[in-house]
Amino acid sequence: MVEKFIVRIAASVRRWTDDLLGVIYPHTCEICGEALLEGEKVICLNCLAKIPRKNFHGQFDSSIAMKFAGMAGVRKIASFFVYNRQGGTAAIIKKAKYANQPQIAYELARIFASELQTGDFFDGIDGIIPIPMHWFKQALRGYNQCEEIAHGISDVTGLPVLDNLITVRPHKTQTRKSADERKSLDSSIFKVIAPEELAGKHVLVVDDVITTGSTISAACNAIIQAQPLATVSILSLAKAH
Ligand SMILES: [Zn+2]
Repeated sequence: MVEKFIVRIAASVRRWTDDLLGVIYPHTCEICGEALLEGEKVICLNCLAKIPRKNFHGQFDSSIAMKFAGMAGVRKIASFFVYNRQGGTAAIIKKAKYANQPQIAYELARIFASELQTGDFFDGIDGIIPIPMHWFKQALRGYNQCEEIAHGISDVTGLPVLDNLITVRPHKTQTRKSADERKSLDSSIFKVIAPEELAGKHVLVVDDVITTGSTISAACNAIIQAQPLATVSILSLAKAH
């Protein structure tokens, strides 16, 4: 696929220019700015302990569950922390998305997956599907932060990252949309490639932030409509109130 090739080239260019410009990822905490200690990545342990958590690891989040009412096949939902301006979590997500710092998404996903790994959240899951970005937008950015999250989880769990879901039309990020625009997102913006590969599979769909839940539910609906024998679970780094 030509689009995939362009996205891969753009990702390589991003890494080359980082190398050429001597971009060294900061060894300071992305929330408080203090120097990171040995073993700490992206955020310090002090900030990690203080970030406002969503405490429903491995359980169904009833506040989002309402949005999936009647949607067969959704099993589990987990979000790492609350998306808010006060706790610095909105800033950290924005850096991961817009500031050429995909390693933030990757490392936060590793931290969250390590915590979830101590319970049974990943039991029965066969693969990870990141919310795709339109290929043109991804080529411009040089990465898709949701893919970074997926690879961070994969690094901890060993689960494969699947590329069965693509975006057929560009869609605006949820955090930059009006309430009306958010409601109107439908599953036709996503397309499942090779749906037969997902038959009988339980996939974990991952996103950076769940705001209204419309992006993630459109993606889950697209998967289940294309392959009714698939089941899905959901993971996001952040969840808005
Ligand atoms: Zn800190």
